[in-house]
Amino acid sequence: MDTFVSRKRRRLSPSPEPTAEDEDSTELKLALLASLHPQLDGDVLLEALIHFEGSVQQASVALGRDHAFSPTRKPAPSRIGHQSSLSAYGIAPGDTEVTKRPRTRKGRTLHLYDPQDIEAHTPCSIIHNFLPANEADALLLELLEQAPTYSKLEFQLFERVVKSPHTFCFYVNSLSDAEEQKAEYIYDGRKVEDVRQSTPEMLKASKKVEEAVNSEIQRRIRDFYPNGRKLKYQSPEPWRANTAFVNCYDGPHESVGYHTDQLTYLGPRAVIGSLSLGVAREFRIRKIVAEDEDHRKEDGSLADAQGQISIHLPHNSLLVMHADMQEEWKHSIAPAQAIDPHPLAGNKRLNITYRSYKDNLHPKYTPRCKCGIPTVLRCVMRRKETRGRYMWMCHTNYIPGQEGCSFFQWAEFDDDGDPPWAWAAKAEKKTAVEREDSLCREPRDESVGQPTKRG
Ligand SMILES: [Zn+2]
Repeated sequence: MDTFVSRKRRRLSPSPEPTAEDEDSTELKLALLASLHPQLDGDVLLEALIHFEGSVQQASVALGRDHAFSPTRKPAPSRIGHQSSLSAYGIAPGDTEVTKRPRTRKGRTLHLYDPQDIEAHTPCSIIHNFLPANEADALLLELLEQAPTYSKLEFQLFERVVKSPHTFCFYVNSLSDAEEQKAEYIYDGRKVEDVRQSTPEMLKASKKVEEAVNSEIQRRIRDFYPNGRKLKYQSPEPWRANTAFVNCYDGPHESVGYHTDQLTYLGPRAVIGSLSLGVAREFRIRKIVAEDEDHRKEDGSLADAQGQISIHLPHNSLLVMHADMQEEWKHSIAPAQAIDPHPLAGNKRLNITYRSYKDNLHPKYTPRCKCGIPTVLRCVMRRKETRGRYMWMCHTNYIPGQEGCSFFQWAEFDDDGDPPWAWAAKAEKKTAVEREDSLCREPRDESVGQPTKRG
């Protein structure tokens, strides 16, 4: 437990470069606390952690002693209720008085259901009843068949092996893509053994998701971003649903703690399309504030528990996490007190998160650490001086039994989010496509002189 360095000590001797712990500490500590006290709600754990200034040991002792820790805790609503909207109370999203005022307060949860409220107050937009009902059911049934073979993610935190409190599986569009993923891509410092080809219904849905996400991106840029222009580092290229992580939350207690999605293969300002099926659950998000004196409370602890926003995700809804999400907000699936069982899925929520991998962030191009492993791409969220900068870091310390090296390198991108080697990656891709083309043409070349019909 000595490996926990308190924020106070760290502030006295600041290192010039951010460390993974700087960026992760709260979430990692919460994950560790959650694994020590699986029966307790995330809000309670966070409150305890803040109370003890980030000491997991002290928080854990207190939580073990007093299950009623959290003086301000209110009973959570037991079920996902029926739609209510800020608009219904005469608060329009465009109301400047409302949008200027922070919508959240420390320790409070703002519940949002209405698409207009969600896109006005969060970096997300939502489409309810996304697929035709019969297609959504067919997709859900296909995934329900596969879900029992999904596995929990196992990783190491502070010399302890922690298991994710839900199961997941990784899918790509073709068998050759699956082979490439298994052989070449690295996640949490290691290769993934189980990469599957998307099911027929997943592939069918992915085309529709692709179309919807691209049009939502354009709408977001036009209506929400400064001067109607894409964000710096956001890709101007069409978004492709070329990979999908499928999560299964079986029962009200399965969850995932606050985190950001890994940017390594998506690049900066990534967009993710998340299709929810089965039981409705709460998707909670929280804006991360930089660590500075403005956010330090009188007792010296950090006012890290900004109010959170809860977006309710019913069956067959598509949530788009836009380009303004991953660098500034963290998200989670909160454990629920109770759920409404779904007629097909029972207690399960299945969630397909479609992602757009960039060719030029293939691990053959990205920096390797001293362990010889392609590094992970992260964005500084907490450190005020360097907030928003990207960095390549070693991530083999997530593998149980390994320590990792201290590799660190600032990551550079152009305005479109392309790395300095993008031109080389593009040239290589062009050559590969031409080689493939000429191989395909060869048989036809032999028939030169014969009349050919086209179309
Ligand atoms: Zn390393």
